[in-house]
Amino acid sequence: MIEIKGLHKSFGKLEVLKGIDLTIDRKGVFSILGPNGSGKTTLIKCILGMVLPNAGEIRIHGEPVRKHWKYREKIDYLPQIANFPGNLTVKELIRMIKDLRGQPGLDDSRLIDRLGLQPFLGKKLAHLSGGTRQKVNLCLTFMFESPYIILDEPTTGLDPTALIILNEMIEEERRKGKVIIMTSHIMSFVEEMSDEIIFLLEGNVYFRGTSESLKEQTKEPDFIHAIANLLTKQNV
Ligand code: ADP
Ligand code: MG
Repeated sequence: MIEIKGLHKSFGKLEVLKGIDLTIDRKGVFSILGPNGSGKTTLIKCILGMVLPNAGEIRIHGEPVRKHWKYREKIDYLPQIANFPGNLTVKELIRMIKDLRGQPGLDDSRLIDRLGLQPFLGKKLAHLSGGTRQKVNLCLTFMFESPYIILDEPTTGLDPTALIILNEMIEEERRKGKVIIMTSHIMSFVEEMSDEIIFLLEGNVYFRGTSESLKEQTKEPDFIHAIANLLTKQNV
């Protein structure tokens, strides 16, 4: 269970989060959507303790996250921008992350095969294409067994085959009863995967609910138009 109350975050004069209230008290896939710069990554980083809010509170399993670093072990996180050390090989990086986490991890050879990373294991990260780097990023995230998974733009750079694999991987984790929080620009992917949509606009949660209820509320025939409808609510 994740409880967020009155969360504020500013960067200098820019007020990004203006009092977010959000509770996630069931299992499933929750997609955070919103225009570019609406604070999706900032909200995610606040949950992870990587960004310190100016005000408000976040609790995971009833424990405030502030100064309680232990909770972080319960979350597997895929960053939007992964700054891998370019001189390491894929294999070395996987081993390093396993050592850092101090968890044995799953049988990662299955995950490596599934993502088609076998031919790249001996290659340096600096020499990989964007899509392959993203597959490495995914491999590192899905290698562990935490009750929460947070995926910041997991679909970036993936070709359709890799998207299908990602879809199956998320679906399997959902079936295990995990809480998965994600963002993505691919609306068909979001619609297919999500149990609930959380739409951020101007620093607040503007909509929260299923894709069906969003379509009803906006009176739009399909999901992508419903999201486009919400985007027009923005003051520009
Ligand atoms: P999103 O993920 O929804 O695209 P972000 O949370 O990354 O949005 O960013 C929200 C806003 O906050 C943007 O205008 C961004 O430029 C700004 N921002 C994010 N991180 C920082 C930072 N560390 N310093 C200054 N501004 C930041
Ligand atoms: Mg972002």
